[in-house]
Amino acid sequence: MVVVKETKIKCPNCGNEETVEMPDYVCVRIYKCPQCDEVFKPKEGDCCVYCSYAEDDCPAKQLNKDRGDQLKL
Ligand SMILES: [Zn+2]
Repeated sequence: MVVVKETKIKCPNCGNEETVEMPDYVCVRIYKCPQCDEVFKPKEGDCCVYCSYAEDDCPAKQLNKDRGDQLKL
């Protein structure tokens, strides 16, 4: 299966988009916008800032999703 590792994260404050590489098994819970210096955290229910603000879910969540489909959880 293909896990998306590079994604675009968008600052909810100023709308600046940055292409970032997501770490494999680490949930990144703080992201600092390089443009406006706003520090933001995941929305409630999301494991990391990528799930909340990036175009793709983080690798860990992508893998969990696939496993869930296979096991029909
Ligand atoms: Zn910003």
